[in-house]
Amino acid sequence: MNDRRPADLPDHLRHHIGGEPVDSVDGGTFEVLDPMTNEPYLTAAAGRAEDVDRAVAAARTAFTDGPWPGMVARQRAGILNKIADAVAAQDQRLAAWETFDTGLPITQALGQAQRAAENFRFFADLIVAQSDDSYQVPGRQLNYVHRKPVGVAGLITPWNTPFMLESWKLAPALAAGCTVVLKPAEFTPLSASLWPQIFAEAGVPDGVVNLVNGIGEQAGDALVAHPDVPLISFTGESATGEVIFARAAPRLKGLSMELGGKSPAIVFADADLDAAIDSTLFGVFSLNGERCTAGSRILVERPIYDEFCAAYAERASKIIVGDPSDPATEVGTLVHPEHCAKVLSYVELGRTEGKLLAGGGRPPGLDQGNFVSPTVFADVAPEARIFTEEIFGPVVTLTPFDTEPEALRLANAVKYGLAAYLWTNDLERGHNLAHRIEAGMVWLNSHNVRDLRTPFGGVKASGLGQEGGYRSLDFYSHQQAVHVSLGPVHTPKFGARS
Ligand code: NAD
Repeated sequence: MNDRRPADLPDHLRHHIGGEPVDSVDGGTFEVLDPMTNEPYLTAAAGRAEDVDRAVAAARTAFTDGPWPGMVARQRAGILNKIADAVAAQDQRLAAWETFDTGLPITQALGQAQRAAENFRFFADLIVAQSDDSYQVPGRQLNYVHRKPVGVAGLITPWNTPFMLESWKLAPALAAGCTVVLKPAEFTPLSASLWPQIFAEAGVPDGVVNLVNGIGEQAGDALVAHPDVPLISFTGESATGEVIFARAAPRLKGLSMELGGKSPAIVFADADLDAAIDSTLFGVFSLNGERCTAGSRILVERPIYDEFCAAYAERASKIIVGDPSDPATEVGTLVHPEHCAKVLSYVELGRTEGKLLAGGGRPPGLDQGNFVSPTVFADVAPEARIFTEEIFGPVVTLTPFDTEPEALRLANAVKYGLAAYLWTNDLERGHNLAHRIEAGMVWLNSHNVRDLRTPFGGVKASGLGQEGGYRSLDFYSHQQAVHVSLGPVHTPKFGARS
């Protein structure tokens, strides 16, 4: 026991199926580690196919026989708003749990908890305001769109900002009237264990939300392959997305995939340099660098390259790395020793692929836990693996460019296409370049802030489909066309000739 540990932590997590906490049918469990010590601090039930079967059956019954899918929007929205209230009311506790489990700095975990509440409020508002199309053919037909929830949605989420990313799927799925089975990431299942009580107290009927903990290749795979789950919303690595795509193919499931990224930040010489440095530091070192939209490749126009590199490295080397529960901490611990080892292996590789300007391994004095110093490599060529591969940690590359076409070529030179950040005071150039960058989302003179109504998603290896606003509701809905005749129907009379 130590004083970082929130007082009310459980030591065992169960599944939540049909309104009941349950262990796995075979009694299997897995251990979850404290990322500061890498000691196990709880066990969680390890779901397998039979547990997923039970969860899907509960969700299916709630969908076919329960009130949720047919509830009027205002009533469903009322429940979603109660969920938001409950999340907001325990944001401090949620942040403390998330920080303990993931290593995310506490101030940033608090922001993510508040964002989770906002996601529910936002989708509550959307369904109340939603309208669907109707078309009239005067005197002949009325055609209208009848929107209905698809069924049981399988939601599979990653370990970075887990509670918030779960809310980003749970809120639209529930708003649309689907019932769900959630499979949280096995590295970080703690905060998801708060959902069942939140949902029950807000009035979500039993069986509408089911939660199965477990390993991706077991519980996750069983959910993807299940015949009664027509939709899978997945956020995680591109390689996992490919496996899920193949596994879902025989049943032609609906797929929404938010995958990996290696996003460029392009800084032109005419940019506001101070703002660009603040923003590109935040863009890659916030959330411990474990951020899908991290601007982890910074491309800088040659005339300001040296000045930018020096100023950037100086600031990076002053970032406060430490205990994630300390409000002064800017970078905490990475989520898991396996992930930390992967990030550190890229840092070692980087020494051969670029010029080390800051960081370069463990911070001095922090010998235990998954700490990695904010690390900056300069003069990195586009062929380098640290330039092309997603590291998902506090590591950034700096590369100079001479012309706008070269900047574009470098920006598009990787397999990913999630986000891009442009820094220039030439708006014409900014817009034109934004349109030509292969990225689902572009920020011009800004880091990653977005209105929840805008599309969210990536192109190339970064994703499939787009969520955000009504797009998310569309994914969880069938839009059925109903054609109503308003007058005599002129039908060719087959078989009526004598
Ligand atoms: P991951 O792909 O290893 O795991 C994600 C989830 O998938 C986990 O719940 C895991 O258990 C499950 N899973 C693993 N194998 C599976 C299988 N064969 N079948 C079904 N489920 C399986 O990803 P991660 O390491 O947890 O998360 C980090 C990755 O997520 C990074 O690549 C990051 O860029 C990406 N990410 C993307 C976005 C986005 O919006 N584009 C957001 C956050 C994270």
